[in-house]
Amino acid sequence: MLALLSASSWVAAQVTVQGVRMHEAPNYTRVVFDTSAGVTYKLFTLDNPARVVIDLEQATTGAKFGGAGAAVGRKRVKALRTARQGANLRIVLDVQGQLKPKGFSLAPVAPYGHRLVVDLFSSDATPSKPKQAPVSKPRSSRDVIVAVDAGHGGEDPGAVGPNKAREKQVVLQISKRLVNEINKVPGFQGKLVRDGDYYVSLRERTLIARQQRADLFVSVHADAFRIATVEGASVYTLSDRGASSETARWLAAKENQSDLIGGVGDVSLVGKTDILAQVLLDMSMEANRSNSILAGRSVLGELGSVAKLHKDVVEQAGFVVLKSPDIPSILVETGYLSNPKEARRLVTKSYQQKIAKAVTKGIVAYMKSAPPTGTRIAASTTNRSKSHRIARGETLSGLASRYGTSMSKIRMANQLASDSLRIGQVLLIPPAL
Ligand SMILES: [Zn+2]
Repeated sequence: MLALLSASSWVAAQVTVQGVRMHEAPNYTRVVFDTSAGVTYKLFTLDNPARVVIDLEQATTGAKFGGAGAAVGRKRVKALRTARQGANLRIVLDVQGQLKPKGFSLAPVAPYGHRLVVDLFSSDATPSKPKQAPVSKPRSSRDVIVAVDAGHGGEDPGAVGPNKAREKQVVLQISKRLVNEINKVPGFQGKLVRDGDYYVSLRERTLIARQQRADLFVSVHADAFRIATVEGASVYTLSDRGASSETARWLAAKENQSDLIGGVGDVSLVGKTDILAQVLLDMSMEANRSNSILAGRSVLGELGSVAKLHKDVVEQAGFVVLKSPDIPSILVETGYLSNPKEARRLVTKSYQQKIAKAVTKGIVAYMKSAPPTGTRIAASTTNRSKSHRIARGETLSGLASRYGTSMSKIRMANQLASDSLRIGQVLLIPPAL
């Protein structure tokens, strides 16, 4: 009876390892095994030569596993071997130097099924908590730094077009062109948040931007909608509460799923903050949101001259990636991969280049209107527009006389619909009359 039971459970529990992929990030290599079901495993290292061993219980390789090929030309993994050990499967990774492995399982999320993920960290890298860069005094005449974040990557392909174009690739290409264009402008420096096909968690993207000492964070996407005729570029900033349109709500929910699809091990999305910290954060968020909207308007205006716009106003949505309390952040949807015509355009070099140039123009115009202190452009634009954060009791007429300009000029520069001002709101003040 007992023997019979274990025999039948053996059949039921047999797991097939169907495939393997690797994604190389600067500080770790992610090895992903597709499995037919959830699997029980042991993970350990062996020395001389350095190996990482994964023992999978009640498992076997499928016909299309092709394990050895996945290791060809890799930086940290030299070879991948498998061996049957009774009913179990042993996978051995021959690795370069001392690596710290960390394993976790991912439940099925379209387009993937069950996955076992093994991250191999270079021994000097920390597994999940990137250190916050110390806030340093601004150097005098430094460059304006723009962090360019190509959405998705690695296990998270993002949107997939009818032409099989993957968002993660298209937006990396556009982001590289964008950084290139930004670097051509004197006084500006573009930096990529990810520079290859690997996944970075949403919170980590903003941390990397902080480490880069970014003055502006630009997340680049090319999304999809359930209706194929939807088209055009849009610019988003973080919403106060709720999203400003149905599309914005839909996109935010989708982009925020990235961590689930891309695979973040044991990173909790909800950080613990006490009430005071939360209040301080909210205040700085509010000022930052106004700056983000100004930056977004400037970029959207330029995009409108090279691309069809989905909406001609900056929209707001609850994107996790835009939640930096201190760096103005915008998200550019360069177009819809779900629209066959737009998908064909988005993969061409010439259209990507047009988008990169337009976004750069918008960024530069915004930065020159509100140059961060200590930057070269701040030194050269003293006679230009300034930005002003509204404090309690300030009025539009008060601002006009203080800065020697007119109320109508301020209204125009900020597209104000009314003269009532909010505390923390940031306005663009045109040069003195
Ligand atoms: Zn996206």
